[in-house]
Amino acid sequence: MEQTVNLIKRISQFAPHPVTETLSLNEARRLIHEIARPIAEIARNIQTNITVLNEKITKLNTTKYSIADLSKKLRIPTVDLKCVYLPYPRTVCTANTCRRCIKFEDQVKIDYNTHCHEHCYLQGVAQNVVNNSALQKCGAMNQQGKCTHCRCRWNMHMHISYETEQVRVEVIDKSIEAQIKTKEGAAAATRRHKQNLEKRIYDLHQEQAALTSVCVKLSKFLHKNSIIPYNDDLIKYVEYLVREEKEKRSADADNQNIIHELENMVNTYQEQMKIYKEMLNSPAGKQVDDTPQIEEIPKLVNRLYNLRFSGAPLEKQIHLIRQSNNAAAHYYETVCKPPSNKTLLSKVALVYKKVIC
Ligand SMILES: [Zn+2]
Ligand SMILES: [Zn+2]
Ligand SMILES: [Zn+2]
Repeated sequence: MEQTVNLIKRISQFAPHPVTETLSLNEARRLIHEIARPIAEIARNIQTNITVLNEKITKLNTTKYSIADLSKKLRIPTVDLKCVYLPYPRTVCTANTCRRCIKFEDQVKIDYNTHCHEHCYLQGVAQNVVNNSALQKCGAMNQQGKCTHCRCRWNMHMHISYETEQVRVEVIDKSIEAQIKTKEGAAAATRRHKQNLEKRIYDLHQEQAALTSVCVKLSKFLHKNSIIPYNDDLIKYVEYLVREEKEKRSADADNQNIIHELENMVNTYQEQMKIYKEMLNSPAGKQVDDTPQIEEIPKLVNRLYNLRFSGAPLEKQIHLIRQSNNAAAHYYETVCKPPSNKTLLSKVALVYKKVIC
């Protein structure tokens, strides 16, 4: 009792510090886990955009357009990432047999049409991650870990809070619009337009490099600050999207490049993490350790939010994840009653009295 009183008195003497400005280790870890799926979705979207831009350049090189047609053709093809919020978390099955490929015009989309637990408010389950052991406790699973709805095992399932959709749009290339009046002007406009597309491809490659680099830095932090052995969770969703793209490929999607570049991202990440882990174990490990400090984590995430093309959709996804977590927290809310045990209550009262006096 005496020690408890002393401890509380001692704590009360410390000057308060602004808690909102410091990130706790748990908050940093949560922030990094939240960003795993958004990073992967953005990486795929960057690669999809690079692919459609390259296709457009090839088309311009091989087709002759009339001046009348040109103003409609010199537009920048863009693939926007649309995120759809689910008003409640849902458990879906990701097995090939439980999802379908839908072809729409020249695009192939994967649809998770097997909703094994439509409103799944399972507590303590991470959302939007694959191979999630907490899902063994989902209401859809039986004692043996098999889904009673689709008969697949729990590890094929995913707990999701939002869905994404890639929407193709065309952006008017304002810098060349006025030029397309004469034959000479049209030729110059086409050249200028191609340069604009190439510049855009270059910028998207830069964004991809920034994404991979931040991903590696966040992983280094997790690796160093995990209680349990950390097994590179951050890249798992990218690997998952590679599998999804391969499935689309078998349904005739023209996406070799997207698959190749996503695999590149995984390889670069794994190589860098391997070098890092070897470095940590080497005798000079301490001196060359470049693990980010906890204060750098929000800055790294902000670096992603500021990316020209990918920043806004990335932030939107994080917003949706938080919205869903808040809704779930509200749903789980439980009322805590004071202890009914009289002796315990009187002890608490006694400590309080001693601290105050
Ligand atoms: Zn469930
Ligand atoms: Zn299922
Ligand atoms: Zn299934």
